[in-house]
Amino acid sequence: MATETLFRETGALLAEFGIALSDGDLPVGSPIDGSRIAAVQRHDRADLDRMTAAAERAFIAWRSVPPPRRGELVRLFAEELRHHKQVLGRLVSIEAGKILEEGQGEVQEMIDICDFAVGLSRQLYGRVVASERPGHRMLETWHPLGPVGIITAFNFPVAVWSWNAAIALVCGDTLLWKPSDKTPLCALACNALFARAIDRFGGASEDLRRGLSQVAIGGPELGRALAADRRVPLVSATGSTRMGGTVAPVVAQRFGRAILELGGNNGMIVTQSADLDLAVRAILFAAVGTAGQRCTSLRRLFVHDSIADTLLARLQRAYAQVRIGDPLEPGTLVGPLIGEHAFTAMQQALAEARAEGAEVFGGERVLAERWPQAYYVRPALALMPAQNGLVQRETFAPILYVMRYRDLADAIATHNAVPQGLASSIFTTDLREAELFTAAEGSDCGIVNVNIGPSGAEIGGAFGGEKETGGGREAGSDSWKAYMRRMTTTINYSRDLPLSQGIRFAVDA
Ligand code: NAD
Repeated sequence: MATETLFRETGALLAEFGIALSDGDLPVGSPIDGSRIAAVQRHDRADLDRMTAAAERAFIAWRSVPPPRRGELVRLFAEELRHHKQVLGRLVSIEAGKILEEGQGEVQEMIDICDFAVGLSRQLYGRVVASERPGHRMLETWHPLGPVGIITAFNFPVAVWSWNAAIALVCGDTLLWKPSDKTPLCALACNALFARAIDRFGGASEDLRRGLSQVAIGGPELGRALAADRRVPLVSATGSTRMGGTVAPVVAQRFGRAILELGGNNGMIVTQSADLDLAVRAILFAAVGTAGQRCTSLRRLFVHDSIADTLLARLQRAYAQVRIGDPLEPGTLVGPLIGEHAFTAMQQALAEARAEGAEVFGGERVLAERWPQAYYVRPALALMPAQNGLVQRETFAPILYVMRYRDLADAIATHNAVPQGLASSIFTTDLREAELFTAAEGSDCGIVNVNIGPSGAEIGGAFGGEKETGGGREAGSDSWKAYMRRMTTTINYSRDLPLSQGIRFAVDA
């Protein structure tokens, strides 16, 4: 696609959301060709301060709206998303460089979490607890928390916000979103659709219109300010472990809550009994899809020695067939890296791998003549002699480190011997191996799959990882509890005042 066409198309897509940008101070580029596709206005700390005050005011109104009615707003938002799936998905592709199929997939994920949240809006169940005191009833209820700060990464520019937003909204919270400064257009588009849903919701006060969902555009400095603000009881931050290491202590120091969704270094074990047809397809999608720029991308492959040569030969054949190019063209499987920085990091990692004695296939830059300002690479396979320091780091690019193993227990131990703990998988047809991997002595990750790659989670489960991945959980299951405050209430309906633990404490009065 020609640069001028991309610029014009972005303007036309934004118009579909009712967004007309005047020139701002933050240029937005497309990784497809490295060109400028728009410029947006950056917010400063004073803007964020005003937004936070508006989010607080909106919270006062929103927390009293009955949860099923809140769910109705999320249902209307999902309708907007359904109507705009193609255009929003395309904008994701242009701004983040994902292939069309994956851009659309992100919007589908938004729709899915909205549907989940609508159902949840009638199921924010508390519990009744057996009281030890006669004539007493004890119960737990869940109440809205307040404004939720949502910091998101470039690589999932819409879905990750929606995991937080849909759930937080039905829980009665308001939203302050600081998207990646690499993908502000997607955020503005989502918020424009949300504003339409509010219009159709009917009866929303001015406070709700202004403060229910807001987008703050800026870089790390704005994220830091959000993390430090006492008016924001929950900060849900998605991004690198480096970012989480800064955000976590800032939130903790003011006794706020944090959901941290940080870097992964995801592994797969392919055992002797694995169905290799399935394994090859799963490896390809997980290691090469999204140009290796998913938090759940497959980065470490442990293959049983007896099948390693066969699997590697098949993988090399599969890698050779992958079409790299314009993510907007049908048939493309691998789009660009987000930018030069990602390309440099990938080349440094490969040089380090070679220096460590690895045999490397692929990894070189391609299509540089067609797009000198963009960074397309051939996905790399690096046959590593061991899991050294390099392999223990997340390099956010399509590099798959391959290692051989003989003993499954050793492979699991090596698999777990990295600082991150996001996603993992095993390919096996042996029940014992599968059960071992998912048992307490198996994988130490938050996501542990059998005969499925580590990436591409469904929204129904809780998503997140252990160790340096941050320990947060988002999306389905009971993740909603993090977005609410828990209240324990004991009601005495007797004519006496028995104390718990049988304590006697009385005077004659
Ligand atoms: P990044 O850490 O550079 O930025 C992520 C977000 O944090 C951006 O909005 C950025 O402006 C903000 N930020 C950066 N430093 C900050 C600071 N000190 N204080 C406050 N905010 C700060 O990450 P990225 O390059 O956009 O995304 C790639 C990374 O995100 C990878 O490490 C990937 O694994 C991770 N990621 C994790 C998940 C997950 O669910 N675990 C999902 C997507 C991406």
